[in-house]
Amino acid sequence: MKLYNTLSRKVEEFHPGDPKRVKVYTCGPTVYSYAHVGNFTCYVYWDLLVRVLALNGWTVDRVMNITDVGHLTSDADDGEDKMEKGARREGKTVWEVAEMYMNDFLENFRALNFVEPSAICRATDFISEDIAVVEALDKKGFLYDTTDGLYFDTSKFPKYADLGRLDLDHLRAGARIEFSSEKRNLSDFAVWKWVRDGEDHAMQWEYRGRMGYPGWHLECSTIIHEKLGEPIDIHCGGIDHIPVHHTNEIAQTEGAFGVKMANFWLHNNFITIDGEKISKSIGNVYYFSDLIERGFSHMDYKMWVLQGHFQSERNFAFGDLGAAKQRLLNYRNFAALRWQKPATNLDDVRKRMIEQLGNNLNSAGALAELDKVVGKSVPDDDFVKFLDDAFGLGIAESTQDIADDLKAKIAERFEAKKARDFAKADALRDEIEAMGIMLLDGADGSIWQYAN
Ligand code: AMP
Ligand code: ZN
Repeated sequence: MKLYNTLSRKVEEFHPGDPKRVKVYTCGPTVYSYAHVGNFTCYVYWDLLVRVLALNGWTVDRVMNITDVGHLTSDADDGEDKMEKGARREGKTVWEVAEMYMNDFLENFRALNFVEPSAICRATDFISEDIAVVEALDKKGFLYDTTDGLYFDTSKFPKYADLGRLDLDHLRAGARIEFSSEKRNLSDFAVWKWVRDGEDHAMQWEYRGRMGYPGWHLECSTIIHEKLGEPIDIHCGGIDHIPVHHTNEIAQTEGAFGVKMANFWLHNNFITIDGEKISKSIGNVYYFSDLIERGFSHMDYKMWVLQGHFQSERNFAFGDLGAAKQRLLNYRNFAALRWQKPATNLDDVRKRMIEQLGNNLNSAGALAELDKVVGKSVPDDDFVKFLDDAFGLGIAESTQDIADDLKAKIAERFEAKKARDFAKADALRDEIEAMGIMLLDGADGSIWQYAN
């Protein structure tokens, strides 16, 4: 299996550290507002990753975090805490806000039929473990104190620029961004923030006799250390995470524990909507509720995402979602043939699809292989199960056999038509179509299909 590794900027052959078990970590959402259709593209791709690893025979241990503390509106460690901002907007406590948006996120996560991660961890459940990481970093001399927090001195971590290929000299010399005068280097970041006098910060914990809270990047280093152990095999996130969040995670983990954090780094690109950046001010932020209102399901959306590649910038348009919906219906009707006709041997197709998927998660290529046989061949149960293992589109479950009395009605209609009793045949067709079933007549009977 091959994957594009941001560390090397190359497609590399993938091998896990443990030949049987693959350790995967995917950065999760900040639960201060509803996640939009752009946010969810990455989870579709990371679910595909988990599925393709399993198809290649590995057991996957996937952990995802939920950020419910410490993520500031600015990556430069200032600005408001996103959770506090959400709480003010809603007139609720930060804990209520976290609970509400986490539940909404998880509802969509499950409606998207993702393989359940081995652990989903809330940042606030790992505070004492965070503090242990802070202590380890402090002991090794990476930290310095300022009025607003304990900062990581990035000049003490020589590999700091590696993942992002950052031009630190240029960044420092050309810095036009205001930054805390107490910061030694522009790239330094808060590992632990202090609650300042008069600051209203609801989530706070005591450390060194003062109240504070973790910096945003800390939870991922901590949770990986606690739940998976370094080095992990694959770390995933959005491309926006390369220069700051992931770079800082590496500095923390490798600084504190002296081990490599992850062997492969996968980063998904962004989607635009109708050619524009997704933003509230443009008014093009769509949520699943908007999709459902327009007659699309979570699976239609997932089908649309799988038609593209995680590294490509993509544009989302409702028209394209319509095409994806039709494509998924075609696959379901292909699967429905397994109740009606003898199966074709599709072993070669399966092999070619697995090859495509193993080629840096080329789901579009795999679907193109599938398209070559849809409409020409008949799958068996096993092949339909393979499709669901690979894509998680819920095809088997949504294509159950129809009831015997409906089958009898279909046969009766075909006989009526053959006997040229068109009035009866048409009446029966209307009855059958009212049940969401369409008929394709052949020489010796009708094939039934789902209308939607
Ligand atoms: P946010 O909660 O706004 O910080 O977004 C969480 C993550 O979702 C970001 O860090 C990105 O990796 C991802 N994301 C946000 N917008 C998009 C988009 N338009 N397309 C793909 N991913 C996105
Ligand atoms: Zn992270």
